Amino acid sequence: MTGKHIIITGPPGSGKGTQAVRIAERLGLRHMSTGDLLREAVAAKTELGLKAADYMTRGLLVPDDLMLGLIREELGADDGRGWILDGFPRTLPQAEALSDLLESNGIGIDNVVQIDVDPGVIVKRVEGRRVCGECRAVYGIATLPGGEKAGCPKCGAPLIKRSDDEEETILRRFNVYREQTEPVLDYYRKRGGKFVAVNGNGDIDDITAEIIRALK
Ligand code: AMP
Repeated sequence: MTGKHIIITGPPGSGKGTQAVRIAERLGLRHMSTGDLLREAVAAKTELGLKAADYMTRGLLVPDDLMLGLIREELGADDGRGWILDGFPRTLPQAEALSDLLESNGIGIDNVVQIDVDPGVIVKRVEGRRVCGECRAVYGIATLPGGEKAGCPKCGAPLIKRSDDEEETILRRFNVYREQTEPVLDYYRKRGGKFVAVNGNGDIDDITAEIIRALK
C-alpha cells in the first residue's frame, strides 16, 4: 500500500515548508518542495534555474509551462512512499494539470492542508528567516541558539537570507498568493476530499500536532 498524497499550501512565511518537512518525517512521506527544487536549479545554473531565477527574485510565479515540466519529472520518480507536495499547485492551470497527471497514474489527493497567517506576522517572520546554504534547514533568527553568526545548528554551514525575503518582495509574494493561489483552494474544496485548515500564527509544535491529528 502506498502512503498518503497530501498538498500543503499557505502564504509566504506561513511555515508551510517547515510543517511539510515535519509531516513528511512523521508519516514517512517523500517531501517535494517546488521552491527548494527551483533554488537548487538556480544554484546549479541549469536551464530551468536560469529561466526561473529572475521571477523568483522579484517575488513572481515561475511560468506554468516550466513548473509543469518540473512536476512531471518529480512525479515520474515516485517511490511509492506517498508524498507531501509543498508549493505546488500555485495556479488554477497547475491544479488542473496536476489532476490530469495524477488521474492517469491512478493517484488521488488524500488531503489539502492550508495554513493561514496574518500579514503582519508574515512580514516579521520572513524578515527573520534564514536558510542553511548547505543542508537547506530553515530557522528564525529569534530562536537560533548560538545566534545567526554561529551558523547552522545542524551542519555548521553559514546561514543566508533568501533573496526573495526582503519586505517589498514579501508583500508582492503575499499579493500573488491572494490573487493566483487562493482560487486553487476553492478548486479543491469543490472537488471534495479532506480539507484541513489550520491557524499558523501559533507555536510550531502545536501546529504540527494539529495537522497530524487532522490527517489521521
Ligand atoms: P517557496 O519556497 O514555496 O516560497 O517558493 C519560492 C519561489 O519559487 C516562489 O515565490 C516562486 O517564485 C517559485 N515557485 C515555487 N513553486 C512555484 C509554483 N508552483 N509555481 C510558480 N512558481 C513557483
